[in-house]
Amino acid sequence: MEQKGILIVISGFSGAGKGTLVRALLKKYDEYVLSISMTTRTPRQGEQEGVEYFFTDREHFEETIERDGLVEYAQYCGNYYGTPKAYVEEQLAAGRNVILEIEIQGALKVKKKYPECLLIFVTPPNVEELERRLVGRGTESREIIKKRMSRAVEESEGVEAYDYIVVNDRLEECVEEIHYLVNAARRAPVR
Ligand code: 5GP
Repeated sequence: MEQKGILIVISGFSGAGKGTLVRALLKKYDEYVLSISMTTRTPRQGEQEGVEYFFTDREHFEETIERDGLVEYAQYCGNYYGTPKAYVEEQLAAGRNVILEIEIQGALKVKKKYPECLLIFVTPPNVEELERRLVGRGTESREIIKKRMSRAVEESEGVEAYDYIVVNDRLEECVEEIHYLVNAARRAPVR
């Protein structure tokens, strides 16, 4: 029988380099797929519908909650974000490892529903680096960066709920570390 895939939750401070890390993992190994979330936030420059997110309005988002179409959802800096359920379940059943790149409240809900999932928290080497990456990205206003920095401080209190904390210093090493952790979880007879 085909083994079910592993559900991998990757969280980390906004600006920790999660996106780059996840893209590198997807490029290197074809047993991973990425779940595309639904959000009510407006697209950043260059973001495309169905690539980074499915962009929607609050009304449609709330309808999707009502019909139990999400694995989890959360509010982050005034917007809804959620993981569509159908894709995750199909891919896991097909034996693929599914990555959710989500924030902490959602991660904790996923762990409750799927206790066998792997929660990985990605951090930059230090706080100065975090701020530098957020400012350097150049996609957010000062006010939003401030909000995201203070949210990062709040999130740091929930880090102990994660199975692993990975320091995103060297990209290549970080990709290998995550792949190693996933394979170890796959081999474990009981988790
Ligand atoms: P951003 O606006 O920077 O794309 O995302 C803001 C935060 O929302 C990030 O921490 C991101 O990981 C998280 N996020 C993205 N999609 C989801 C989702 O489906 N559910 C939850 N709970 N968080 C999400």
